[in-house]
This record gives sequence, structure tokens and C-alpha cells, in this order.
Amino acid sequence: MQLGVLSGKVAVVTASTKGIGLAIARRLARDGAQVMISSRKQDNVDQTLAQLLAEGLSVSGIVCHVGKKEDREVLVNETLRRHGKIDILVSNAATNPFVGRMLDCSEEGWDKIFEINVKAPFLLTKLVVPHMERQGGGTIVLVGSIAGYRPAPFIGLYSISKTTLLGLTKVLADELAPANIRVNCIAPGIIKTQFSASLWSDDNSRQRFEETISMRRIGEPEECAGTVSFLCSQDAAYITGETIVVAGGFDCRL
Ligand code: NAP
Repeated sequence: MQLGVLSGKVAVVTASTKGIGLAIARRLARDGAQVMISSRKQDNVDQTLAQLLAEGLSVSGIVCHVGKKEDREVLVNETLRRHGKIDILVSNAATNPFVGRMLDCSEEGWDKIFEINVKAPFLLTKLVVPHMERQGGGTIVLVGSIAGYRPAPFIGLYSISKTTLLGLTKVLADELAPANIRVNCIAPGIIKTQFSASLWSDDNSRQRFEETISMRRIGEPEECAGTVSFLCSQDAAYITGETIVVAGGFDCRL
């Protein structure tokens, strides 16, 4: 039997019971990793776990709201207890509670977006790094967005939170390189999930957005998952501090 490229690795993926996170968890597991899935709701964790176990994948699951300190600690500690180590962290959770003119967003709205989209990835990284250092290395992938390069109308704050991840990736990559920990980011374009449903669920709006994409179609979560697996693999051994855009040619940077 041929071993997968992530065989022997243990991965933690946040917000992995639906959408892009689920596709990432499934792909990492298919590529040989043992994967800890997680999200806020026990029902979602149970259903997704049952589904992935039925596919013969090596997964376990736990509730983790990434904005809650205790949940983050339980996620890391339970992964270590059940799987013995952590080689890969994929920080995928994000929120966008506010749509509209940025100056109309409340302080609470600002805090929520930055707490979930920026602070939680940072704090989770802080939690896993000592374990990765002890075992001689690891890889971290943050899930950003093309909106981080090109702020989208009416989701200005969300966009800025994703721009911050570009910087966070660079700083963490530089600080953690001596410990053999690589830190990268993916910036998905419009991907067919619940999160972006308002952009593609009616034909008119979908066609309008597809016109802005070179490949003239919305992306699939699996198309993000392959990139994450690559970044976690030995094939990406000399890649750190980078953000890979997965957007079908959507024009967001040179
Ligand atoms: P999605 O399909 O709506 O999935 C959301 C997942 O996140 C669910 O499993 C949900 O489960 C979990 N979740 C939500 N809030 C959470 C929290 N605070 N803590 C832990 N888990 C949480 O979303 P998606 O489109 O896959 O988005 C995933 C990532 O891709 C996000 O970072 C998003 O910004 C980014 N992204 C998406 C697109 C796109 O077009 N879809 C484009 C660019 C970037 P529970 O309800 O059980 O918590």
C-alpha cells in the first residue's frame, strides 16, 4: 500500500464540520493524517465525525468555539491526549456578523470580527507552538481571503481582518522558522459554501460574480483543501510566510 503524503502526521482543523474546513479535514485525512475536527455545535461535530469515520478516515472530533479560551485549550489538550502530538494546525474559523458601511459598525462588531478572525488564530498558534517546538517542527496554515488583498464592498471590516492575516503569516513565519515551523496562508476566492451563499444562490448574482472570475465559475471547497494539503506536505518544505490565492484567476493582486 502506498503511504499518503501526510502519513504519520496529526492535524487540528478548526471550523471543520462544514464548507472549506470540512473539505480540508477530509483531504488531510485522505492524505494519511490523523485529524481532529471541531466546531461550535456538538451536533455538527457528531454528524461530521460519523460521516468521516464511515469513509474509513482516521479522525476524532470535539466542540471548539475558537473565541473561547477554554475550548481552545481543550482542543489542543484533547488532541495531544488522543493522538500524542500536533504536527499541523489549520486555522479556518471566521465570522462576518456585520454587512454595511464600515463606519456604521459598532465597537462590539469590530471586537467580534477581530476576536474570531485574528486573535483566535494567534492564540491557537501560541498554544500549539510549544508542542511543535518540542517535537522538532510543524506546519500552520491560516485561512484568509481574497478580500484581504482587495477589500470587498460592504464587508470592509471582514476584509481588513483578513488583510491582518497576511501580516500575521509573515511575522509568525519569520519568528518560527528557527523552530522548523512553517506558517502559510491560503486566500480563497468565492467558494461554494453556506458562508458565501448570498453571492451564488440566485442565478443573477452568481452570473454577475462569475463574470469577474477568469475561470468563470465559483470554486469548490475541495479546491482549497488540496492547496492546504500541499502546504502541509514535504513538497512545501521550503515555503513559509506565503499566501496562496485559490480564486480561479480573480484579479486581486499582481
Ligand atoms: P461555512 O461553510 O459557513 O462553514 C462554517 C464552519 O465553521 C462550520 O463548520 C461552523 O460550524 C464553523 N464555525 C463557525 N463559527 C465558528 C467558531 N467561532 N468557532 C469554531 N467553528 C466555527 O464557511 P466557509 O465558507 O467554509 O469558510 C471557512 C473559511 O474560509 C473562513 O475563514 C472564511 O472567511 C474563508 N473564506 C470563505 C470564502 C467563501 O467564499 N466561502 C471565501 C474566502 C474565504 P458550527 O456552526 O458548528 O460552529
